[in-house]
Amino acid sequence: MTATIKDILTTMTYATADEKALVERAFMVADKAHDGQLRKSGEPYIIHPLAIGKMLAEMGVDAATVAAGILHDTIEDTAVTSDDIKRDFGDEILFLVEGVTKLGGVRYRGTDRHNESLRRLFVATSRDIRILIIKLVDRLHNMRTLQHVAKEKQFRIAQETLQIYVPVAHRLGIGRLRKELEDLAFPYVYPDDHERVLALTREHRKHDEAMLEKCRKALQRRLGELTLTNFRTSGRVKGLYSLYQKLKRRHWDMNNVYDYLAIRVIVGSVEECYQVLGIIHELWRPMPGRIKDYIAFPKPNGYRSLHTTVATPYDRVVEIQIRTEDMHRAAELGIASHLVYKTQQNGGPNVTKNESWFRSLIPRFGKTPEVVAARPEAVTIPDWIKAVATSYTHHDVTDDDFDDALHQDFFSTRIFVFTPNNDVVDLPVNATVVDFAFEIHSDIGEHVSGARVNGKFVGIDTALKNGDRVEIETSERSHPTYKWLEFAKTSEARRKIRAYLKKAA
Ligand code: MN
Repeated sequence: MTATIKDILTTMTYATADEKALVERAFMVADKAHDGQLRKSGEPYIIHPLAIGKMLAEMGVDAATVAAGILHDTIEDTAVTSDDIKRDFGDEILFLVEGVTKLGGVRYRGTDRHNESLRRLFVATSRDIRILIIKLVDRLHNMRTLQHVAKEKQFRIAQETLQIYVPVAHRLGIGRLRKELEDLAFPYVYPDDHERVLALTREHRKHDEAMLEKCRKALQRRLGELTLTNFRTSGRVKGLYSLYQKLKRRHWDMNNVYDYLAIRVIVGSVEECYQVLGIIHELWRPMPGRIKDYIAFPKPNGYRSLHTTVATPYDRVVEIQIRTEDMHRAAELGIASHLVYKTQQNGGPNVTKNESWFRSLIPRFGKTPEVVAARPEAVTIPDWIKAVATSYTHHDVTDDDFDDALHQDFFSTRIFVFTPNNDVVDLPVNATVVDFAFEIHSDIGEHVSGARVNGKFVGIDTALKNGDRVEIETSERSHPTYKWLEFAKTSEARRKIRAYLKKAA
């Protein structure tokens, strides 16, 4: 079960010898750095970076990401420094490892405001999507091993997973990570509801799964009889947490859940998707109103497939999802699928390292010049990202959709700064120290005299930047003047300054 560096290298069939050597070097450094450290389970610490490297390799992401994943805990938890990483691995990998390290300092504080801020922060301060991918996979491994963590911490970590990591995985369309994260967190966060859902499914589970397999075989046979040559099918049972969400909206009645059992049909072309839909409707009776064409109308997170729900002769209603190989990969890996190597098809490894389009959507967060220089620039914005942008204005909410914050994150005009306790304060672009002070507390706002921003002393009119760490300095003698209105940007700060001036007059 424990992954080894050999496993990782074997999984990376898509990588060149140089790239594999890089990953192996990352392992040697991490192995040495973590030597003697133990996981909560009592196992050597290195199993954690190795597990992450393995998952990243399975996703097919580039060698730099796999290497950075293996190194992700070194700067924070070992004697290895940023300079060491820079010297041994260069700017790109340093950028990724430091990015993961910084995200690690953000904590979930349990209020709605922080929760939303953190979600946004994830997208906003990640200047490279690969940082998020590593962070998500890191969390997944920590969730898989949560039973070893102290009881009182389990709830907090699991809740943070549901509140922050799951929505991020969903918004980025990474279905594979989302489902597993949800189902791992569910019993810790809602133990009673988890028990209830389990009880509802338990008694029928064996029977259901057997029926699903019968349906799948029947369909497979039927498709094979026709001209279709290149296709595959698989069955899937809805995840418990996802089922729970649906049951809450459907009076806890399993009969009202139509997609508990599903069959996936993966075919060679879009044309065949529609062809298969016709074949299925000929075979089994479709339920009215349950045919969904997410190929012509993709979901906001880019998901594409045809869905239909049919009554089968096996006493079960089954949802059938029809998609091409490309659509399937995108549904499993989401945004990460744009980072992965294209194998075979084009006769050899061919990297689609086009995350720059992603960053081009968050221009305010800029590009680090060295990093951009270190990587090839290939900008083609995938259609579904454009669709996300337009879906803002024509958003039709289905019950599977989350809120529309995805593009708000991308196009927002907000910055996120930290208090010394790592709380996140979210402010408009160009907000200054004064705005921050009033956001913390009116009393602090009324006596702010300056601030330390990232350790450096600055004046109260200083504009803050995304990711700044701000420590307010106050003085009894300091108080609002008319001049403050020249650089206070938030309506909150301006209102309180005016109120103060009025009172003082
Ligand atoms: Mn970690």
